[in-house]
Amino acid sequence: MDKLLYKSTRGLERDVSASYAIVKGLAKDGGLYVPSYIPQMNKSMTELSEMNYQDLAYEVMSLYYQDFTEEELRACIHQAYDHKFDTDAIAPTIKVGDVYMLELFHGSTIAFKDMALSILPYLMKTAAKKIGIEKEIVILTATSGDTGKAALAGFADVEDTKIIVFYPKDGVSPIQKKQMVTQKGDNTFVVGIEGNFDDAQNGVKRIFSDLDFNKALERGGFQFSSANSINIGRLIPQIAYYFYTYATLIKQKEILDGETINVAVPTGNFGNILAAYYAKAMGLPLGKLICASNDNKVLFDFIRTGKYDRQRPFILTMSPSMDILISSNLERLIYEIAGADSTATKDLMEDLTSKGFYEVTDRMKAGLSEFYGNYANQLETQQTIKKVFEKNHYLMDPHTAVGYAVYEKYVEDSGDTTKTVVVSTASPYKFTKSTMISLDQEYGQIDDFELIDRMREKTGVEIPEAIHEILEASIRHNTICKHDEMASVIKKFLQI
Ligand SMILES: *Cc1c(COP(=O)(O)O)cnc(C)c1O
Repeated sequence: MDKLLYKSTRGLERDVSASYAIVKGLAKDGGLYVPSYIPQMNKSMTELSEMNYQDLAYEVMSLYYQDFTEEELRACIHQAYDHKFDTDAIAPTIKVGDVYMLELFHGSTIAFKDMALSILPYLMKTAAKKIGIEKEIVILTATSGDTGKAALAGFADVEDTKIIVFYPKDGVSPIQKKQMVTQKGDNTFVVGIEGNFDDAQNGVKRIFSDLDFNKALERGGFQFSSANSINIGRLIPQIAYYFYTYATLIKQKEILDGETINVAVPTGNFGNILAAYYAKAMGLPLGKLICASNDNKVLFDFIRTGKYDRQRPFILTMSPSMDILISSNLERLIYEIAGADSTATKDLMEDLTSKGFYEVTDRMKAGLSEFYGNYANQLETQQTIKKVFEKNHYLMDPHTAVGYAVYEKYVEDSGDTTKTVVVSTASPYKFTKSTMISLDQEYGQIDDFELIDRMREKTGVEIPEAIHEILEASIRHNTICKHDEMASVIKKFLQI
């Protein structure tokens, strides 16, 4: 097989190495890097089911990061998936009633973003060395909560990197805020913005593309990079846990080798479910890819009608990490269903920017048949948390509950009883208020932090180590600034 390289979905760049794509993040034409072909898994399921998470992750990732040596890639994997996770399984699969829950919240920030953000810093550092970048990498991120903390935890104390995170001062949950402002690591910087998430995001984008600022940065020996979810350094590591859950089910004698299973994925930026799509294309026996949205149901409408329309009100829900109207990673699927046509992809993406919507051809729409889309509103999400807890004594966070509720809608719509893995993306301890309110409205009166103990008393679910840590940790970051002061704050941090 030819060497696997990367190209932009919009056609300008071709044949770039994995290292280059990881360091750059986004292609020059605004497109996303995609592999030149989707590799086939070359180990049998029996072999994979005998491996631990780290070895299995190596089998998946080595097919995509072909310019990394075995030693380099294994070192990245071992530094990422270690005792930061509170279980040796890293991503355990638990049977709950008739379904299986793939728990992706055992990392240091108790949400699914840890699966990719604990390895990205090591991939980026290794990649930068390989392509001869001597400068120190500065990660600049605006966050509405989960990504910022997971990126901070991933990059903390990673040599030759610094990370600066901006969050809306009054726009994240109290627990999320405490997680960020207590972040350890001399290379971490956390700043609250007087403004909302968009102000923070726009500020970061402006600084990224400010030529003078970039020159000053360069003189200081730094270079910007992004920990954004469109980076292939985040996407590829996510493929591994789909193989791992399948291998686990074989080992636990829940399925036979070769048996088809469905997966249900609570979706926002379309990264997690796209990893499932790649896993399937690599030969993993996945059937339906069940795409679950909250009230921001832009993907449900797209899968049903072929029209992607972001012109609609943005709804704040109890699953904030899925409150998204532009699912960036969808561009990679568009490119695939367009038959790898970069001109068509570029035109559609330009429509989205200029008109606020795009519509795919019938032929492309047929390529969406592997997906089932639906959504769960606020009430359905709460009822699902309560029902599953009462019936199975399993406590889901609101994101996971959206996935579960949509899985149930799929079964009802289709009658398909194929065994299904529901992807569980956060610990309920990260969202104490909305989870507890679902069990009993009375808890609405109680403070988020106080609800931690109440959750344990009520449900018996152990409090994760990450929560104990932030309760005891002291505040290390207290910078607050106006959104037009972001550039000067960065200069001060970096002393440039
Ligand atoms: C980011 C996130 C999601 C959505 O994942 P995408 O890859 O953006 O689709 C779902 N649940 C939680 C808890 C998350 O943090």
